[in-house]
Amino acid sequence: MNQPIIQVKNTTFSYDQAPVLHSISIDIPVGQFIGVIGPNGSGKSTLLKLLGGVLTAGSGNLLFNGTDYLNKNRKQLARSITWVAQDHPMVFPFKVSEIVLMGRHPYLSPFTFEGEEDIDIVRSAMERTQTLQFAHRSFNEISGGEKQRVMIAGAIAQEPEVMILDEPTSALDIKYQIQILNILKELNADKNVTVILAMHDLHLAAKFCDRLILLDHGQVFQDGSPEEVLKKEHIEKVYGVEVHLIRDHDGKIMISPGTLCTQ
Ligand code: ADP
Ligand code: MG
Repeated sequence: MNQPIIQVKNTTFSYDQAPVLHSISIDIPVGQFIGVIGPNGSGKSTLLKLLGGVLTAGSGNLLFNGTDYLNKNRKQLARSITWVAQDHPMVFPFKVSEIVLMGRHPYLSPFTFEGEEDIDIVRSAMERTQTLQFAHRSFNEISGGEKQRVMIAGAIAQEPEVMILDEPTSALDIKYQIQILNILKELNADKNVTVILAMHDLHLAAKFCDRLILLDHGQVFQDGSPEEVLKKEHIEKVYGVEVHLIRDHDGKIMISPGTLCTQ
């Protein structure tokens, strides 16, 4: 088997005292489309920040193409891996096109400005995400769904090998949820970009992901195909609710609440 693009080796991580991730080991082969799921506070964002190089793990814990993250130049890592946050607070009134252009920063040296090639890459990323039509508007003035597409355009413009996205669809209506997941699927299929995303919607996770990693209290509770991970007993144990599994029209798992108080 080829070397995994990312390896997490027995990683424990704490912000202050108590660890929030415990002895996590994950191999991520090139080209997988992976959903990280689990209840609030189970460690999804923390894991994605480690994978994205936003937080630093201890030496020898995280490898990119076999080299420790700590031994890689920041700019090199930023060209290879992009991390898209869940929220996009923006205090300066940047134009949408300027935000997407920031995706090219890892390729520019301090005193060079972007060239024609960078502009072409930005334009194509904006076409793919259907954000060109508001290129000249202020980022602060567009909707949550539009912001999310703009940040994804910036991530695409970075031409990464790995895209890491923290709940990219949680704040979106169903049209944009599907649109964003389809854009990521296309990048995965066309360019073999490895995609790792945190998700809450287990049905969409089952539909789009090749592999799911289910976290529980900072540990990997299950790691495998949606069929292996989304078992009734696993969901009930980790989320603490009673559920029924049903199948949608293409046979993918859907989760239905077990008991409902309808009065
Ligand atoms: P999730 O994304 O699954 O909701 P998080 O990774 O955000 O989980 O959080 C995991 C645990 O780490 C939680 O107990 C949370 O309170 C804690 N945590 C998250 N961010 C910080 C931080 N910056 N400082 C201290 N504790 C944090
Ligand atoms: Mg989170």
